[in-house]
Amino acid sequence: MTNTATTPDGLHGTRRSLTGWGRTAASACDVVPVRTAEDVDRALAAAAAAGRGVVARGLARSYGDAAQCAGGIVVDITGLDTVLESDLDAGLVRVGAGVSLDSLMRAFVPRGWFVPVTPGTRYVTVGGAIAADIHGKNHHRDGSFCSYVTRLSLATPAGRLEVSPESDPDLFWATAGGMGLTGIVVDATLRMVPVETATMRVDTERARDLDDCIGRMAERDGEYRYSVAWIDTLSRGSRMGRAVLTRGDHARLEELPAARRRDALRFDPAVRVRVPATPPSGLCNPVTVAAFNELWFRKAPRARTGELQSISTYFHPLDGVGAWNRMYGPRGFIQYQFVVPFGAEDALRGVLTRVSEGRMASFLAVLKRFGPADPGPLSFPTAGWTLAIDLPVGSPALSPMLDALDETVAGAGGRVYLAKDARMRPDVLEAMYPRLSEWRATRDRVDPEGTLVSDLSRRLGLVSSPRPRRGARRGRARSSPKAKQSATR
Ligand SMILES: Cc1cc2nc3c(=O)[nH]c(=O)nc-3n(C[C@H](O)[C@H](O)[C@H](O)COP(=O)(O)OP(=O)(O)OC[C@H]3O[C@@H](n4cnc5c(N)ncnc54)[C@H](O)[C@@H]3O)c2cc1C
Repeated sequence: MTNTATTPDGLHGTRRSLTGWGRTAASACDVVPVRTAEDVDRALAAAAAAGRGVVARGLARSYGDAAQCAGGIVVDITGLDTVLESDLDAGLVRVGAGVSLDSLMRAFVPRGWFVPVTPGTRYVTVGGAIAADIHGKNHHRDGSFCSYVTRLSLATPAGRLEVSPESDPDLFWATAGGMGLTGIVVDATLRMVPVETATMRVDTERARDLDDCIGRMAERDGEYRYSVAWIDTLSRGSRMGRAVLTRGDHARLEELPAARRRDALRFDPAVRVRVPATPPSGLCNPVTVAAFNELWFRKAPRARTGELQSISTYFHPLDGVGAWNRMYGPRGFIQYQFVVPFGAEDALRGVLTRVSEGRMASFLAVLKRFGPADPGPLSFPTAGWTLAIDLPVGSPALSPMLDALDETVAGAGGRVYLAKDARMRPDVLEAMYPRLSEWRATRDRVDPEGTLVSDLSRRLGLVSSPRPRRGARRGRARSSPKAKQSATR
């Protein structure tokens, strides 16, 4: 929703009500679109001079309130959408931070290069991928996104900095998973991975319950580059956690039928349908979801090997449905994603039992195995099991249930993914991210006044609030704290 236009220190901003992908926790922010690195510098300087908070926003595919700043400035970086350089002999590309993984795939898959890590949607920016240090179905093999970033240009309140893992490892790794709070990434250089085709070779199998699924993944994930299990969260009793596992790798040219080899790198996925702005009510309740889950499970083959699937079918099935996040209705939804270490399978079982007994309707629940963590103090992935569950907002039982799940996860040495969070309490944060003070020390070096802030950082007490400079002009239209609605409470 657009309200009033403001002009903070020469930059044109538009007051808008923003949410994340889950459509909860709206707040009113001044959105400033940028097209150049200098625009980003000016936006940061304007925010610092006015003592207002500022944060970057990409394609808003984080689920909660990470890419918004109530009453402050939100720098829309999607205009930094240029591929700046490519050295495909070395597999390196330098791109503006607003370039999406979708654009990267469209530009480079036909030339035989794939992104090193892709989430469940192609519609994320490189800046957002760095800020969340995103993971894919290959984390157990290849690690997370920032392991493939060789350098980046970071606009900070202390100035624009060239940062690499070698030149300033503390700042580089504080930025990886730092949720935009160490600076605004302007451009970055990525290491791509070579592929012979735009096709995936996929093995599918069913698991009768959670233990069966865990056993199958632990035993054979190492044979596959990509692995994921869809879990039926509504199945109970002896079938609790029944799952469909899909694992695979990029198909080699010789694995395609002869007729498809001539055009093996063709990549042109389309959005096939769109969810209407006001979808029919009652679309998403335990009865419809149980029916869908039953169908999904039965439709999957008991075991099938070597099926050829497109990149979008395997990695991004939901991208074929435009605005699917409307499906959960006007109150939106939460995605609860956590990781617990290997050996803490009881905690995983405990969470799933609680969700399945709570009869929360969830179409989407996926289980993956993470490999070792990278050095980022706030980076989410750490060796273990990660489960992501979509849960509609509405039931009064949701908030207490999620608070209890946080305790289980933290107690097992695990953590919740900040890019998905919209409701966690601040008191569990330190237990989940024990290197928080190390991260804060690095952040304070480049943002001593506390200018980089988001609704997420305020809610969780990640950083201190901006300190207004003496004589600073305050932003004209500050929103009251009441403007921000809480997601589940
Ligand atoms: C359907 C779906 C599936 C997903 N699957 C996965 C998955 O498998 N794995 C996974 O890891 N994540 C997954 N995600 C989450 C998504 O990858 C992350 O939230 C990602 O950060 C979104 O990128 P974005 O460009 O939309 O960033 P936004 O949501 O706009 O912003 C996210 C964060 O990045 C910061 N940011 C954005 N741009 C910059 C910049 N230039 N400089 C500094 N900070 C910046 C923002 O301030 C904010 O803190 C999924 C999301 C959806 C909707």
